Amino acid sequence: MKGLIDRYNRKISYLRVSVTDRCNLRCIYCMPSEGIKPLRHEDILRFEEVKEIVRYGIDWGIDKVRITGGEPLVRKGVVYLVEMLANLKGVSDLSMTTNGILLKDYARDLKNAGLQRINISLDSRDANKFNRITRAERLSLVLDGIEEALKRGLEPVKINVVVMKGINDDEVLDFARMSLDRPLHIRFIEYMPFCNRKGAESNAKAQKSSFEFVSASTVKEGLKELGELIPAQVRGVGPAKSFKFEKSLGTTGFITPMSEHFCATCNRLRLTADGRLYPCLFSDYGVDIKRSLRSGAGSKEIRELFEKALKNKPEKHSIKGNNQVMSKIGG
Ligand code: SAM
Ligand code: SF4
Repeated sequence: MKGLIDRYNRKISYLRVSVTDRCNLRCIYCMPSEGIKPLRHEDILRFEEVKEIVRYGIDWGIDKVRITGGEPLVRKGVVYLVEMLANLKGVSDLSMTTNGILLKDYARDLKNAGLQRINISLDSRDANKFNRITRAERLSLVLDGIEEALKRGLEPVKINVVVMKGINDDEVLDFARMSLDRPLHIRFIEYMPFCNRKGAESNAKAQKSSFEFVSASTVKEGLKELGELIPAQVRGVGPAKSFKFEKSLGTTGFITPMSEHFCATCNRLRLTADGRLYPCLFSDYGVDIKRSLRSGAGSKEIRELFEKALKNKPEKHSIKGNNQVMSKIGG
């Protein structure tokens, strides 16, 4: 069956599946403090529907699937979904991005169900700052979750750190040190002015600061005292550029959507919890797969919808004017 190739000759092999728009945190760069209006239960894709869409994707060349959200671990039965997807022939890489709050309880079952690896978001190792960024006092749960992920072999375990000026940029050395004697893969992500701008601006006001991104090159500069950064490979590396320090067990990587976008090699499509297929994280446009699926569409019609999404995949992203909410489209 013909693969999925967009107008710029990029081959699509990676589907990111958001399984819920709900979350048990309210990160200041992602959500307003009051949260967002939740999707109606009946508008959320059922697991069988997710499986069917992924199965079509596999027929057309998708072999890498990431489960995300919102917070995927708040979706009831998510372990069952992992098992369903892990059992599909053709998925060679099955991963999840989580805030780690519930991970201590879930890591073993996720691993047994067939999840291969995990990314855990953690923006501060200081309890006060963690509370400020996530609006919740739960740092210890995330740290426990990281330990459990290592213990259960959900490897490589990657830690996503969104670096914000004046908020957590003084912690980059501490984060990088985590990779020295543990097999942890720290990934510094440039903050994107993403969540519908109004939300981000009012969040910033409430925090009495503006969120400013810190470029990867600035972070790199700050890491010099740990030694030379040696280029390294990590499984499922995606757009991150990874490095290690001499003798470090883990790696340190940089994801640079702002200072050096990686659109030329983008191989992704995104499926939202309400069944829309988006060609880009920054697209305002998504095709409604759920509606077609629920009205009995078959392979031909679903393929047409995939093609429509591909047609709308931009050559490169434009953050300006983007009105999306990250927790909805799936980070
Ligand atoms: N709730 C899960 C979590 O936090 O890992 C999964 C969804 S979250 C939207 C996915 C990733 O997007 C997280 O690593 C988060 O830090 C990142 N993210 C959210 N908003 C962002 C922003 N404005 N700029 C950069 N990264 C962002
Ligand atoms: Fe929730 Fe993840 Fe958004 Fe934070 S980044 S509010 S954990 S969805």
